[in-house]
Parts: sequence; structure tokens; C-alpha cells
Amino acid sequence: MKKAAILGERQAGLIDAPDPKAVKDWAVVKVETAPMCTEYKGWLGGWKAENLGHEAAGVVVDVAQEGSVKVGDRVVVMPQYPCGVCELCVAGEYIHCENTPNFETYSGQKEGRATMAQYLLKPMRLLPKIPDDLTIDQASLACCSLGPSYSAMDRMNVKPFDTVLITGLGPVGQGSVVNATFRGARVIAVDLVEARRDRAKQLGAAEALDAADEQILQKIRDLTDGRGVNYSLDCSGSPKAHRLCIDATRRKGIVMFVGECGEDTAIRISQDMIRKGLTLMGNWHYNLSGFPNVMKVVRESPAAKSLVSSVLPMSEIQKAMETCASDDTGKVLLHPWE
Ligand SMILES: [Zn+2]
Ligand SMILES: [Zn+2]
Repeated sequence: MKKAAILGERQAGLIDAPDPKAVKDWAVVKVETAPMCTEYKGWLGGWKAENLGHEAAGVVVDVAQEGSVKVGDRVVVMPQYPCGVCELCVAGEYIHCENTPNFETYSGQKEGRATMAQYLLKPMRLLPKIPDDLTIDQASLACCSLGPSYSAMDRMNVKPFDTVLITGLGPVGQGSVVNATFRGARVIAVDLVEARRDRAKQLGAAEALDAADEQILQKIRDLTDGRGVNYSLDCSGSPKAHRLCIDATRRKGIVMFVGECGEDTAIRISQDMIRKGLTLMGNWHYNLSGFPNVMKVVRESPAAKSLVSSVLPMSEIQKAMETCASDDTGKVLLHPWE
């Protein structure tokens, strides 16, 4: 099979690799769509890598034993390789599995963990079926586009009378706008880049503010009767945005962190949490039981289809990386067989 690789600084290409084979409860999926995520950061930095991607949707082409899927099923591919038997896995919180097995030891193979490839290998229980009325491209939004923010909105119990602040309007932030507006909430979106703010407005944000504006906290308070928003969701991973979320959320509100972050953010336990009564939470992915609801957002949200800004063949991986690295993109979908 072919798969994508980072070959050097700003250099990506295709390489050949053996096809993975079904083993035990792991099935082979022919990848039809591989949504791109943060791989471009490695491409910019020249971090050589041969296993790219963690998002995919496609068709089951090989199984080694009976299970929850069969050959021919169209499926979304959930991330990671959790054990499937620990308390967290059984509860659907597989993303937080404490006993993740070694891929090569379990499968006896080196290939099959990349999603930006023509085939991959995955535990059958992590291959929820795509409803007949949705295309594989549409269903692929159930990965990082809509997944983490679906869970964030669900855990915060965002409702129609609420105002939600969303900081960081890359593809995950844009999906957050879709999930919040789907629930009827009013969205105040924040980013440094004008093109991203424009995309957020097109997706349904009521307001889009410049993160560099020194009056931004006051502006958010002015938009919320001086009280601040009910809920905040950070998708930027920036400590400055973390602080804005904490300061712009009203007393007894909730702040949710979704964007990964390499730096520490200072949190004032007394002022932010005890006296203000804020709840601070982090969210990675979603409980597996949420999949039908994520499909409902894909199907019924008028804005969901606008999340995809380009669909490119994997043969144009270099161009696809350039597109992801630009400031004004939505979700970029790769087609590994084109
Ligand atoms: Zn587990
Ligand atoms: Zn992702």
C-alpha cells in the first residue's frame, strides 16, 4: 500500500509499505477519507515520520474473527489502540485507557496504525458504522472536527439560553461553533486571524472578536450584561486564551480546555475557583456512546458541511500539508486512493 510520510522540513511524500492483515479482534479498514489534523506541525518542523494521522473513515475489507463489524461495512475509525477490557474502556471512555497494549506486540505487525495510508488496522469495537444516508466524507467529521467539542458541549450541558465563548478557531474551534449553535446557544468566537473569525461567523457565531484587542475582556462583558459568558471552551492551547476564558466566564460557570498545550497556565485557586466558583475541565475525545448524536449533528446541522474547506488526493500530500499550515483553512480531507 501507499502511505504519507514527512521526509524533511516542509517535505512530504508517499512511501510504499506492506498491507496490514486482520488479526484477533482487529479488522483491516480500507481508508477512503483521512481528515488531516496537526500533522502539518511536524511537516513545518521537519520531524521525519512514517505513521501519520489519527482520523479516518472507510470500509472494512478483512476480519479475522466474528465481531461488531463485517467485510463491507462503512465505518468511522476511532483514535488510539486501547485495551477494551479495563474499567474506562468498558464505560466507553476508551480514550483514557490505562492499559493500552503495544501495537506491534498485540498485532505481530509493524504496519496499520497510520490513517494517512490506504489501509489500517483497528479493534472492531472502535469502528462504529456509518448511517446509510451519510457519505464517508461527511461521517469523517466524527473524528476531531466535531468529536471533542461535541463531548465538551455535552458535559457542560450547553442549552439555548446560554452564551459560549470559543477561543481558537482552527478546525476544532470551528467544529465547536457548529456544536454550540446546534444546541441553540449564542457563540462569541475569538481568534487572532481575521479569515478564521470570518469562517466562525459563517458557521453561526453571533460575534467574532480579535484576540489581540486589548479591550476584549470588557467587550465580552458588554455583550453579556456585564456578567460574562456561561461557558468557555479553549481550542487554542494558548495560556493567554486560557486566562481570557477564566476571566470572561461568569461566577459558577464552566471552563473547558480542548486545545493541547505545551506551556503551563497559572490558575489562581482562591480567586478563580473557590471565590468565583468556576469549574475547570479538560476534554480529549468523546464517550463511544455519543457516536449516534455526533452523526445527528453531521446530518442536521446546516453548518456542518461547511467545516470541510478542501478535499485533496493523497498523491498531493505536499499541497495538502501546505493547505493545513495556512491560516484560513477549515478541515482538509485526504483521499488515500486518489
Ligand atoms: Zn482499557
Ligand atoms: Zn485530529
